[in-house]
Amino acid sequence: MTERILLSAPDVGALEESYVLDALRAGWVAPAGPDLGAFEHEVAERIGLAHAVALSSGTAGLHLALLALGTRPGDVVVVPTLTFVATANAAVYTGAEPVFVDCDPATGNLDPDLLHQALDDLRRSGRRIAAVVPVDLFGACADYDRILPLCADADVPVVEDAAEALGSVRNGRAAGSFGRAAVLSFNGNKIITTSGGGMLLSDDAELVAHCRRLSTQARQPVPHYEHVEVGYNYRLSNLLAALGRAQLRRLDGMMARRRGLRERYAKLFATVPGVHVLAEEDQGANCWLTAITVDPAVAGWRAADLATWLAAGGIETRPVWKPMHLQPVFAGAEAYLTGAAENLFAHGLVLPSGSVLTDGEADRVTAAIERFLNGG
Ligand SMILES: *Cc1c(COP(=O)(O)O)cnc(C)c1O
Repeated sequence: MTERILLSAPDVGALEESYVLDALRAGWVAPAGPDLGAFEHEVAERIGLAHAVALSSGTAGLHLALLALGTRPGDVVVVPTLTFVATANAAVYTGAEPVFVDCDPATGNLDPDLLHQALDDLRRSGRRIAAVVPVDLFGACADYDRILPLCADADVPVVEDAAEALGSVRNGRAAGSFGRAAVLSFNGNKIITTSGGGMLLSDDAELVAHCRRLSTQARQPVPHYEHVEVGYNYRLSNLLAALGRAQLRRLDGMMARRRGLRERYAKLFATVPGVHVLAEEDQGANCWLTAITVDPAVAGWRAADLATWLAAGGIETRPVWKPMHLQPVFAGAEAYLTGAAENLFAHGLVLPSGSVLTDGEADRVTAAIERFLNGG
């Protein structure tokens, strides 16, 4: 039996082993330690921001960012409908209601025209909009040239959900640098991993200090455990920060491998009618995941047919995120829709994109796709 090829498996090796072992041997097992501060500093420097706090997950980062911006029950938070559920859940944790906005069909990222309409409507109805949380889908930055002025005009802060986008750039600016605050994820399938973890970043020292305090049960700096607000247990551990530091050193190499896979897929599908690689022309994207869209009327087959074929060959694929407005848990939430996200969900397919894939495994995937295209 040949090895199963996964969508985006962790890519860890000797460097990660040595960093974690060094931290362990130095005795930095209890939560705090020197790798934690160093990891924060190194990631902030990479993105070009002044402050960062390492957390137990990206979801925790989104929750704290919204809290620090004063999000409270009765508020609304504008969230793309095409995202992983964490973006919307974080809004709900604060007691606010997510309002979903559809996407640009070519990139899957927040549709600026529809965002404009949503902000106008919400303001006119007197709702307090606590934040807009654009997502950099599959690592491609959202259209901040249009989104940031719209949010500034509406006087609404932006929290960039850059969970998928570490290493990406748009017009010379790094993913994570576009909002009042940004959040990264180091979950096991992300571009770099700490097995589980995240980070909140901002140039606003006070905001980051507040989030740092909230992440450690809002303990005051006195010996007797004094608390003046409700905090959370959201801090990353030092051992995991050590893992993250090793991964960060390998980020550029891992991005290059993911881009190599995207280019293979783009070449393979270039002559196939009805098939497009999502955000293919975005040269600044980290290529975290490569997704295709299939127009069945033109291609003569459906994305799901290719998924079934590849699964039979031990190759994992995944549909594009199921839009939030279609999720039972968010039934009844307000949504601004064009059908673009539903279309991507129906006709999109995420292909194996992991930097850990060997050339031989990548050959196996492309050969399997070629056999499918040639009629099986
Ligand atoms: C992965 C992800 C998150 C959440 O990150 P965790 O570290 O898994 O909590 C949030 N938003 C998006 C868009 C993600 O892909």
